Amino acid sequence: MNGIQNDIDVLQIRAAKLAWLLCLLVVTLIVSACPRNDRGPNRPAAGASERPAETNSPVAGATAFNGERAMDQLRKQIEFGPRVAGSAQLAKTRLYIVNALRDSGMKVTTDEFDVSTPVGERRMANITAEIPGESRDVIIISSHYDTKLFTNMQFVGANDPGASVATLLEIAHVLAANPQKPKFTYRLVFFDGEEAFCEEWDQCSKPDAPDNTYGSRHYVAQLRNNNELGRVRALILLDMMGYKNLELGRDDMSTRWLQDIVWRTANDLGYGKYFVDRPEGVGGDDHEPFLRAGIDALDIIQLAGYPYWHRADDTADKISPQSMKVVGDVVLASLPRIEQYLQSKSR
Ligand SMILES: [Zn+2]
Repeated sequence: MNGIQNDIDVLQIRAAKLAWLLCLLVVTLIVSACPRNDRGPNRPAAGASERPAETNSPVAGATAFNGERAMDQLRKQIEFGPRVAGSAQLAKTRLYIVNALRDSGMKVTTDEFDVSTPVGERRMANITAEIPGESRDVIIISSHYDTKLFTNMQFVGANDPGASVATLLEIAHVLAANPQKPKFTYRLVFFDGEEAFCEEWDQCSKPDAPDNTYGSRHYVAQLRNNNELGRVRALILLDMMGYKNLELGRDDMSTRWLQDIVWRTANDLGYGKYFVDRPEGVGGDDHEPFLRAGIDALDIIQLAGYPYWHRADDTADKISPQSMKVVGDVVLASLPRIEQYLQSKSR
């Protein structure tokens, strides 16, 4: 290429750039001349639904977990105030959860039951949404949705359990939006009455009547009554996993193979620093009744490393959309691997 040709090329590029800039200017002028608040009759108000979908979904082409939308779901729960089992505020929260699941297109059932607690009779209700799979075998993903009773402070439970409820709702949204039928049947279960009414976890427990995990114990009893225990192949429990300084240790009560798959998946997604290899002592949670019934179960929880646990300042500012997305992405990407493992295992 000679020098003259080179100059002509440069001029042509400049002309093209100028034309492009003029074009951009015209478009900008036209757009800025449009009325700004005219969204038209069918456009949604500004909010979660207008935010761009987040990328890097673990499943190509699928709806991705949206941390901001989960954050909105967290704030809505907190607006109801303290959400103690049996309270009017928890009834409102329940309605909110049921409607959010139905909006995602899921079939939802609530199971009401009465229990005797150290503070008297209480009516509770578990919520279940189901996505039928090719197999009737079930994988449960779950969280409790009640907050702990405190009479000496306003406790709104942003991380315990607001963030896990919000994450579970967003997982439901992603799963329900997937047009492909999953291999296993998925159940999203929201347990009532996980928290003890007395101050300490086992302070008021009796041998046959623990003062905690009311909803999950009832759920397992119902599985047994309906002869469904054998259908449930695994349970994943989310509890306190939205802290902005997320670091999840390995709960020592959880089933090892299930934990290994989830931890390995986290590592493969580049989230290894959040799922660490130190033990996390929990000492009981909603997965325990399932483990006792012979169902493999995993608790994803940050207990020791969450300084605001059962404190008035367990508030929304401690939670980050990114932490909820990390856990949501990891759980969603783990599901096919869990299915594969279960299918390869002889029953
Ligand atoms: Zn708690």
